[in-house]
Amino acid sequence: MKKADILIIGSGIAGLFFAIKMAKKRPDLFIAIMTKEKVQNSNTQMAQGGIAVVTDHIEDSFEQHIQDTIQSGGGFCDEEIVRMVINQAPERLKELIDIGVSFDKDKSGTWNLGLEGGHSQHRILHHKDISGEEIGKKLIETINQLSNITLFENHLVIDINTKKNKGNPSCTGAFYCDKVNSQIKYIQAKTIVLSTGGCGQLFKNTTNPEIATGDGIAIASRAGALIKDIQYIQFHPTALYEGDKNPFFLVSEAVRGFGAHIINEDKKRFIFKHDTRGELATRDIVSQAISEEMETSGKQHVYLDCRHLDFEEFYTHFPFITNYCQTIGLNPKTDLIPIVPVAHYQCGGINVNKNSETNIKNLYAIGECSRTGLHGKNRLASNSLLEALVFAHQASNHIENSIDDVSFSSKKIMADFSEPLINLYSDNFVELKKELQALMTVLYANKEVDFRKILDKMESMKMKTVSLLFEKQKITTQLVEFTNMLTVAKIVVESNMQQFFEKSPSY
Ligand SMILES: Cc1cc2nc3c(=O)[nH]c(=O)nc-3n(C[C@H](O)[C@H](O)[C@H](O)COP(=O)(O)OP(=O)(O)OC[C@H]3O[C@@H](n4cnc5c(N)ncnc54)[C@H](O)[C@@H]3O)c2cc1C
Repeated sequence: MKKADILIIGSGIAGLFFAIKMAKKRPDLFIAIMTKEKVQNSNTQMAQGGIAVVTDHIEDSFEQHIQDTIQSGGGFCDEEIVRMVINQAPERLKELIDIGVSFDKDKSGTWNLGLEGGHSQHRILHHKDISGEEIGKKLIETINQLSNITLFENHLVIDINTKKNKGNPSCTGAFYCDKVNSQIKYIQAKTIVLSTGGCGQLFKNTTNPEIATGDGIAIASRAGALIKDIQYIQFHPTALYEGDKNPFFLVSEAVRGFGAHIINEDKKRFIFKHDTRGELATRDIVSQAISEEMETSGKQHVYLDCRHLDFEEFYTHFPFITNYCQTIGLNPKTDLIPIVPVAHYQCGGINVNKNSETNIKNLYAIGECSRTGLHGKNRLASNSLLEALVFAHQASNHIENSIDDVSFSSKKIMADFSEPLINLYSDNFVELKKELQALMTVLYANKEVDFRKILDKMESMKMKTVSLLFEKQKITTQLVEFTNMLTVAKIVVESNMQQFFEKSPSY
């Protein structure tokens, strides 16, 4: 049985940045990171636009970034949290730069700041259009140099274990599947940090990679953690339309910030009918406008028009997007790019306070799996990477001061299974997953929704899943992920239902 002072679940920006901060503060602690695939498989690696930070204090100010965030969140942000995150941003940015992350500069040596929807100023630091890849690479390099961090790839965490502590549960360890040896094992931990990312795979049309199955939300809710605002799923307006694709390739919002237009079948711009900011309105508004236009035209997409832009400059900022378009025969200089809104980001999640603590003792959540109060109903572009950095910092400060009062739990726990219990692949879940994704798509299709019918269908999928388990007598990674997807989907439906009937959407 393994033991770690701190177990981090997930290897995106939140988990990795937290690990680095914690390892530097407390070299005496043993820190384990478990991640269910290769370390690079995360939403983080796919981030294009960059990080929103106020660096120009002449044109811009913290207050403007704060107001933009609050406006984007539609009145549902926690202002104290918004202020904390935005005021802290420059310090966290400096820490990224100190470990070698490079952001683009102009010829004059000042930051080349991007503009994105909902931002009143240029304030997005970026590394061309592969900001996430650059950040991920430097974080992983740093992790590899820190001797008190051990990274376990292909370790799928199944559930956390809790014990009752004078009525208040506290977490004591986690069950995981070691995919290399096909075994289920247990790790004891004094503190667990969930940084498992989002749940975009609940939808057929999404920018999120296959790992985004909402595992952390499911694990936390099974353990009794509070899940909040999960009905606020953000749809990104400009995913490249390629028919039946999963995930969809994203065309960054920064492309609109650079001056691209959104046009309809008649080659006319139409977003101004919905918002005076036009293409630079927030994602919820632009996505809604596009959906309505598609409904009217009966077409599967609208277009992004970049043909009027300076192509040389465009290519310097967006080489990745340009090259991808070219692989499917589209040249942004001469061709219209078909685009469609798709599921992109989970604004809610595991409820945490300003120190990233959940309501379960010694269980923290950071990054996209958490609900901090920063985003409200609709996240402002490029505030997500920033949120992950700030809450990783907050958690590291809190744990540094509290972990010495925590001891390993002596409670007897189920022994590790030495027999292989896991089949690595089962195609039984391919159809079930498609069925679930179709249901979730209906839920967000702006039509009248029969919540009861959706929940009944989910219940019958659950029964099928259980019977598959009994039939095969083996747990598969697909079974674990699909069960998590079903759990999260049900919470999302119920939160929508509660909101519909104007009850408080919290668990
Ligand atoms: C295409 C795209 C572009 C984006 N661009 C931007 C941008 O420009 N700016 C911005 O601010 N945001 C952007 N976002 C959002 C942002 O990238 C994510 O919100 C952020 O990276 C989430 O980081 P994270 O560390 O919380 O999770 P992730 O980066 O998703 O990492 C989650 C990790 O948890 C692991 N994991 C999950 N479940 C388990 C389990 N059961 N056991 C073990 N490991 C598990 C995964 O394998 C993964 O390593 C973008 C998102 C996408 C998809």
